[in-house]
Amino acid sequence: MNPDTPLLGIRGFLIDAPEFGRLRSWSDGALIIEGGLIAEVGDYASLSRQPRAQPVRWRHSPRSAVFPGLIDLHAHVPQYPAVARGGGDLLPWLRQHIFPLEREFTGAKGRREASAFFSELARHGTTTAMLYTAVFEDSCEAAFHAAAASGLRVIMGKMMMDVGSYGNLQPTKIASISLHESERLCKTWHGAAGGLLEYAFSPRFAVACSEKLMRAAAELAGKYGAYLQTHLAENTEEIEKVRHQFPAARDYTDVYEMCGLLTPRTVLGHCLHLSDRERAAIAAAGASVAHCPTANLFLRSGLLPLEKMRAAGLRLGLGSDVAAGPELNMWQVMRSAIETQKARSFYESEALIPTPTAALHMATQGAAEALGKGAVIGSFDIGKEADLTIMDYAALLPYRQSSKTVNDLAGEDLASVCIYRGGPHAVLETFVRGQSVFRAPEPELF
Ligand SMILES: [Zn+2]
Repeated sequence: MNPDTPLLGIRGFLIDAPEFGRLRSWSDGALIIEGGLIAEVGDYASLSRQPRAQPVRWRHSPRSAVFPGLIDLHAHVPQYPAVARGGGDLLPWLRQHIFPLEREFTGAKGRREASAFFSELARHGTTTAMLYTAVFEDSCEAAFHAAAASGLRVIMGKMMMDVGSYGNLQPTKIASISLHESERLCKTWHGAAGGLLEYAFSPRFAVACSEKLMRAAAELAGKYGAYLQTHLAENTEEIEKVRHQFPAARDYTDVYEMCGLLTPRTVLGHCLHLSDRERAAIAAAGASVAHCPTANLFLRSGLLPLEKMRAAGLRLGLGSDVAAGPELNMWQVMRSAIETQKARSFYESEALIPTPTAALHMATQGAAEALGKGAVIGSFDIGKEADLTIMDYAALLPYRQSSKTVNDLAGEDLASVCIYRGGPHAVLETFVRGQSVFRAPEPELF
């Protein structure tokens, strides 16, 4: 690096959650970013006095709270326009509201929406997302182009379905075409944009996939070192259908085991209604879980037994599951993860109610670990890539209280304020690998 090139310094109330239930904070803290990596972290007073070969260009707002970039482990790009619509159970909701929309996610409409979607993620402070598109190769391709232009960290794949694809709404994708198109996309995009983009082979769920398709998807993911994503045990009617479609399987999870879909690069959406055997099998395979509490409440799918997931040793992060979840706002997903367990605690004495710190962990470091990226992103440890979101905490406090008031807050209090009241209205700036990917249109802030 040119010795005259200034380093980026971010000053603010730094908060991260490197472990489930452990919070770190620096009330007047600072990060020094060099070459996209976190080079230094600590108190501003000491870091600002440190002698360095290069000058530091400081970004600072007196009311900024700085968090690791939020990670959304599960969302559907084509579904975003249908958020908060319907609200019946999963399978009728898919037929009535989602399949007609996904079927149109192609051509010019697909390109337009794909490009708008990633700006929305950055505006919400989300820096990493694991996403499904529709069954069409063209709109998945357009979505990858848009993801590359956005600067975000994106793991994505073309939806794969070869059984009753989109219900009675054609086109049904035969397995060989779906596999061929997915492989072509994977070859182009897996590892693109300096590694920020990765491919996920994405069989929708066992109801919509043949064994042949699922087996072949797993083989391709292994061949290219790509991710796999699918849905598991979200809804009881879905589970019943799988039981009929795969009578030889011990349970729903066994269908995926038989097909080779459970790997350390697999992220399973939901996992609400599992037996101990199934949780143990997922943990043994090293696969991860995307917990999507806003979606599970919206479609009344169920309440995750979080304590059983933790006891099984499962890696777990959070997902918005737009459009089953009504918004991309990961702060609201954290809130919902807490409130789901609070609701369960009234009838389930074992319920594990996450603290705000634990919820923040699940949306940052925990999710990073679920992706196998725990050493790369998720917290403010030196050497990690500088993915972060800066929140205007004054915008979240009643009467826009002054920074003087906030200095009296502990890191836990500020994390809680963001979880219960946070959202895009308070995001000042979002960075991925030290590059700004969203900046609020208020020039006086920095
Ligand atoms: Zn989903």
